[in-house]
Amino acid sequence: MAYGNPTHGPWCNTRTWPTRCRYCSEKVFFYTCSHGSKVFFDELGWPWPLHQCDEYCSRHHNIIRNFGETISSDYCSTVRANHESRKTVKLHECKRRDPAIDDLVADFGQLKEYIEHLDIRKKLKIDGNTAMATAFLGELAKGDFAQMTVHTGDLSKSDTTSYTFLVHRILLSSIDCERFDVIEFKLRAYNTPGKKIIWLCDSIKSSM
Ligand SMILES: [Zn+2]
Ligand SMILES: [Zn+2]
Repeated sequence: MAYGNPTHGPWCNTRTWPTRCRYCSEKVFFYTCSHGSKVFFDELGWPWPLHQCDEYCSRHHNIIRNFGETISSDYCSTVRANHESRKTVKLHECKRRDPAIDDLVADFGQLKEYIEHLDIRKKLKIDGNTAMATAFLGELAKGDFAQMTVHTGDLSKSDTTSYTFLVHRILLSSIDCERFDVIEFKLRAYNTPGKKIIWLCDSIKSSM
């Protein structure tokens, strides 16, 4: 196994998640980095076999076949070891991040929980459909919301940050997402008087 000068590694924010191929639903590993790489592999580490279903290949024919050789070997060993250990132990430490006033976050990660229709009044413990309740809810009174929980830590990390947020269903109409998909999101803190601050999603798209 010959690694020349690896191009990709921790320095380009290389991140990998086990997920499913959005075209054929087979289990794959999604790999991405700040060079703009977005690749599905069938296996982790050398020789990093590219995923080969027809639709994926026809949409991503520009990915060079030896892409895996350009990934640093240290990164490969870390993600492999973490993947193995997660099969047996729940070593994964997860820190939930709640918003403070005016917080903004832009990140991506794996969708872990997805409630397609959330009852906002119930969640915020607001009774009834009165004008006052509606005024109180402000932006949240309009439309339908889903709730998502995303973990941003990938296989190269031993801990992860978790975000739970509301997303207007209109933003979801153009993407088709399921649990374990990797998604990109932008969140802002939303303050409802007297209730706890929540994360509200301003933009969401599939990373794959
Ligand atoms: Zn890179
Ligand atoms: Zn596929």
